Amino acid sequence: MKQIPKINKARRIVIKIGSALLVDGQNACIRQSWLQTVVKDIVNLRMQNCDVLVVSSGAIALARYAFNLNRHKLRLAEKQAAAAIGQIKLAQAWSENFLAHDITTAQILLTLEDTETRLHYLNARSALETLLKLGCIPIINENDTVATSEIRFGDNDRLAARVAEMVGADQLILLSDIDGLYTADPKSDTNAQHLPIIEEITPEIMAMGGKAPSGYSSGGMATKLAAGNIATTAGCAMAIAFGKLQHPLKALQDGARCSWFLPNNSTYSARKRWIAGGITTKGIVYVDHGAEKALHSGKSLLPVGIIKVEGYFQRGDLIKISNKEGLIIGSGVTAYDSSEINQIIGLQTGDINASLGWEGPDEVIHHDDMVLPLSN
Ligand code: GLU
Repeated sequence: MKQIPKINKARRIVIKIGSALLVDGQNACIRQSWLQTVVKDIVNLRMQNCDVLVVSSGAIALARYAFNLNRHKLRLAEKQAAAAIGQIKLAQAWSENFLAHDITTAQILLTLEDTETRLHYLNARSALETLLKLGCIPIINENDTVATSEIRFGDNDRLAARVAEMVGADQLILLSDIDGLYTADPKSDTNAQHLPIIEEITPEIMAMGGKAPSGYSSGGMATKLAAGNIATTAGCAMAIAFGKLQHPLKALQDGARCSWFLPNNSTYSARKRWIAGGITTKGIVYVDHGAEKALHSGKSLLPVGIIKVEGYFQRGDLIKISNKEGLIIGSGVTAYDSSEINQIIGLQTGDINASLGWEGPDEVIHHDDMVLPLSN
């Protein structure tokens, strides 16, 4: 039996706080007395030599209530405006509460592109590392004002997991309005059982998340499980814990009920962890059985093993690898764009250059740029 993680033992923690915890809908304001207790808990964690990063939702919710925008589903432009109004209040609340403990906060707003594009990702990572070195607490949210509906996280669960992976955190805590994962929805099924520890996120576990609810803020259980996949693959433990009570992190430290998702014993390099945590798919290459076997034995993907390409992508994009039957077996960074792959599909290595008219690499995806979760 693996050990249950303890938050007072963490070296680096990402704490995600949902809108429902932070925003008082009736009075259209921050739940100040609750926030003070969370801040106190975080200060205590820092005194135990733990780096803390906060992923805070609440920007859209704050403006929704304040501007009476809560009667309908917001249009994209309204959502962007609401985020612009709410984010400034949200950042101010965090800043004031930490300043009372002489701690400086720093606002980081990320888009999906910032985590999916390698160069942006590396820039964001060094900014976060520098802030931590300076003793600041990064307060992170999605940059909802510039995010478009197609290119956005839309939920802070997966954003928080991507951040945890980015900074090599050992724990990710999702503070939520529920105390963990149940075998079914406990609101509608009285037989639903609470799962205190999840060693592996199997398809059965994923099915327990159900569908993400439509709406503007919370991603529900489905996005929490998707976050669990990203975090645990990167070697980070994740907890879903009840956050509505005062001092929620202290409660967790004192043994409050929650669900822990245990980390994989992954030995991925930082680059491979980034690949494994990829959320968007620009395209798919389908491989034959011979190539599938070769990839699982540690080989790179060559044009000769490719049977089909789907999507339009550029060199350097993250793409998925599917077997002949359509099952996604991995992902990687492509060395060719989609039209070039179409030119060299099925070719032996010696014939690539003649077909392209220039000297290209032998591999479409090099082994070092590839992650096959089932075999690594
Ligand atoms: N980024 C959104 C906000 O600050 C929240 C997304 C979420 O709740 O997961 O309002």
